[in-house]
Amino acid sequence: MSPRPATRAPLRRAEIVIDLAAIRHNVSRLREYLRTPIMTVVKADGYGHGLVEAARAAREGGADWLGVASADEALALRAAGDQGRLLAWLIMPSEPVEDLVAADIDVTAYTVTDLEKFAAAGDALGRTPRVQLKVDTGLSRGGAAFADWSNLVALARILEAEGALRVTGIWSHFASGEDPADPASALQEKVFAEAVTIAEQAGLRPEVRHLANSAGALLRPSARLDLVRVGVATYGIDPAPGVDGSPWAELGLVPAMTVRAELALVKRIDAGAGVSYNHTWVAEEPTTVGLIPVGYAEGIQRRAGNRASVWVGGVQRPVRGTVCMDQIMVDLGDDTSIEPGAEVVLWGTGADGEPTAQDWAEASETIAYEIVTRIGGRMKRRYVDSEQEGDQ
Ligand SMILES: *Cc1c(COP(=O)(O)O)cnc(C)c1O
Repeated sequence: MSPRPATRAPLRRAEIVIDLAAIRHNVSRLREYLRTPIMTVVKADGYGHGLVEAARAAREGGADWLGVASADEALALRAAGDQGRLLAWLIMPSEPVEDLVAADIDVTAYTVTDLEKFAAAGDALGRTPRVQLKVDTGLSRGGAAFADWSNLVALARILEAEGALRVTGIWSHFASGEDPADPASALQEKVFAEAVTIAEQAGLRPEVRHLANSAGALLRPSARLDLVRVGVATYGIDPAPGVDGSPWAELGLVPAMTVRAELALVKRIDAGAGVSYNHTWVAEEPTTVGLIPVGYAEGIQRRAGNRASVWVGGVQRPVRGTVCMDQIMVDLGDDTSIEPGAEVVLWGTGADGEPTAQDWAEASETIAYEIVTRIGGRMKRRYVDSEQEGDQ
């Protein structure tokens, strides 16, 4: 596939361009490399790429499952026509689950109360809910505490024997999948294997056992099991940047998101002029600055002020001064070729030398996950397909 998404379309103000071919390509490449069925995680509006659109592209790329956090996300995928296997894992005590069961969504149980609720919904509907059991192997977040696991499994088996539900999976989640030096992952794998053994001894025969997120799947072959839950790598973002021995470089995944804007204004400023609120940057020499119409209301990190770069006229140029609600400033130096209306790429694939979401993460002292999931505000998303003719 072409490494550069089709962004050379007329530009109005600012937009988020999503290359669906990149998502398709990434899913298919990951599936081929990992040799394991894939659950593509599309929670949080597809990590900022669009829930329904990302899900569709992932299915086209071969995603065996989709994974989401909330009930609403799962139901939105069904409403959009997705009919494949789909797991939700953060269902609230206040939420009715009949709709999920009726829509053939695999639901996750953490507690015996969850199991009873799913069984009751199945009973009311005359259907057999598909339930996955989550065990906490050390993250201390969702899932049954290991001490409660035998109880959960025992009730699940009773309900299954009664035909009240079917246990389709057992799963857990890594605390530090992106850090191969952290012994936590090996320990979690061991605890998970014990939990699976306990479930099997109780008579459960789940279809899938799964543990790994993107980083776990890429860095720990032993954690791939029956299924891997791949989120961030789907979107072409390295889950473990800078980790030795990571296969990332050989994978050839492509970032799917490009954020671009037009320059609102270009002007000369004098030496000594302070730029943006509180004059956190002061020009040492006369220079030319450009005004970019996006700010923290669009999800641009305020920390990135004076640290990030943007790509204008074929080169990266520094953001100057504080990030405001609606705007940021870029230093164009003495380049007189840049005019108002010129294209600014905040981040993209990096193929033409533009910054990436990872560069923005470093400038913002966060992770690229946060960069892509927070971007939005007044910006609209536009979908392109770099493998389709006539879309360039
Ligand atoms: C978000 C999430 C994932 C995906 O994680 P990535 O690091 O983006 O691959 C997998 N499993 C669970 C339970 C999650 O919440």
